[in-house]
Amino acid sequence: MSFHEFGFSPEILKAVTDMKYGAPTPIQAKAIPRVLEGRDILGSAQTGTGKTAAFALPILQKLLAAGKPKRGRRPIRALVLTPTRELALQVGQSFSSYAASTWLRQATIYGGVSQRPQEQMLRKGVDALIATPGRLLDLVNQQLANLSAVEIFVLDEADRMLDMGFIPDIRRIIEKLPGQRQTLLFSATIPYDIARLADTILRDPVRVSVAPPSAPAEAVDHFLYYVEKTEKVSLLKHLLQADESIKNALVFSRTRHGADRVERFLSRAGIRAEAIHGDKSQCARERALSAFKKGTVRVLVATDIAARGLDIVELSHVFNYDMPNDPDTYIHRIGRTGRAGLSGTAISFCGFEERPILASIERLIQKHLTVVKEHPFASPAKAGPPTPLDRDRKEPRPRPYMITVDANFLSSMRAQTAGPPPSKASRQTGEQSRPTAGAGSRKPARRDTPRKGRAPRRK
Ligand code: AMP
Repeated sequence: MSFHEFGFSPEILKAVTDMKYGAPTPIQAKAIPRVLEGRDILGSAQTGTGKTAAFALPILQKLLAAGKPKRGRRPIRALVLTPTRELALQVGQSFSSYAASTWLRQATIYGGVSQRPQEQMLRKGVDALIATPGRLLDLVNQQLANLSAVEIFVLDEADRMLDMGFIPDIRRIIEKLPGQRQTLLFSATIPYDIARLADTILRDPVRVSVAPPSAPAEAVDHFLYYVEKTEKVSLLKHLLQADESIKNALVFSRTRHGADRVERFLSRAGIRAEAIHGDKSQCARERALSAFKKGTVRVLVATDIAARGLDIVELSHVFNYDMPNDPDTYIHRIGRTGRAGLSGTAISFCGFEERPILASIERLIQKHLTVVKEHPFASPAKAGPPTPLDRDRKEPRPRPYMITVDANFLSSMRAQTAGPPPSKASRQTGEQSRPTAGAGSRKPARRDTPRKGRAPRRK
């Protein structure tokens, strides 16, 4: 199939050629004709599948076909809502590349920066607006943005909107839109709340879905290092110094504080690194991201929310410095590498207390991560047997870990649980050596990830 078959105007086809897109991706082949027909869409696709072009190209085509307004301020005719500023910027950049040879005007608005330049853009009039919900509502409430002429509404990464608590804002925005409109909803996963939202805002939608969230990028090699928490930063430094094939690396930290600590350690070791998370100013995040994309920074340390939806072409490595709390997050993280047919590598650092999540990851991706045994920071705790990959298996039983229980380990466990000291009998049976959810961590650091979806507590 080729982009010519969609009947796009020459300006749009030129943009596609300039972007060096060969053939439409599966989501584009399925969604573009339906969007052009005017149908509502419920799209299940994640970032990296080409979903932005799947909605942006036909939207621009429809706006173009309606013709240039003769006079007066141009009304907003297409609205795209995204959960994060980074994603808004990325989608905005895609719109401006695709519309480069047309008369169409687009603007991107998001919070955390002065609203003045955004007001000015809106005053001039834009055909397509890309926005995060909070800032858009502010501008609408100040009567600086008028949504009464929106013909096409896109809700991008709806599941992340849900995680971030944006659904009430989204409903408020939808109340300002005309009832007669085309709505496109994209979400990597369709949890119950999103299905309910879709029922209320979509009319007879066409369901398009590609690469279910449980299918990781095929081109990714998955490696696993058993390493204890205190040694992780040294192992990361060691790998970055020893392995030149690590051209650029996105390192996932569970907390903002952890991300800063890793970034400082690497920078002190002479490795060019930056951290992005919710405590950083918008400006600092954009600077770090752009330096990383340009290649002047080799390592970007990020929390899950800050990295959500980042589109980094040719990212060679993803590091799970902290293991994800749930297997879906593993898929989202590794989805940043191995894109567009390129190969990529995912390296997971698994501490003793993080081992319980391994089995669910391996079952979800239907393969075993390749364990790298020979490294200078290998954990003394032995690995359990391989995970049975049978999908229908009920509650997995914990792996029978083998560990030498030494006095230090037991006393640190006692200090954390603050319970009575273990009985002599339990010490002898090694009961305390079984991993527990909080073992190894002290006071919890500030989280940057939603609380929902944590690994189930072990009974
Ligand atoms: P997205 O899933 O929208 O974040 O897109 C991921 C990446 O794929 C972006 O860098 C796009 O520019 C790129 N892309 C989108 N469509 C195509 C295509 N048909 N051929 C090649 N690359 C594409």
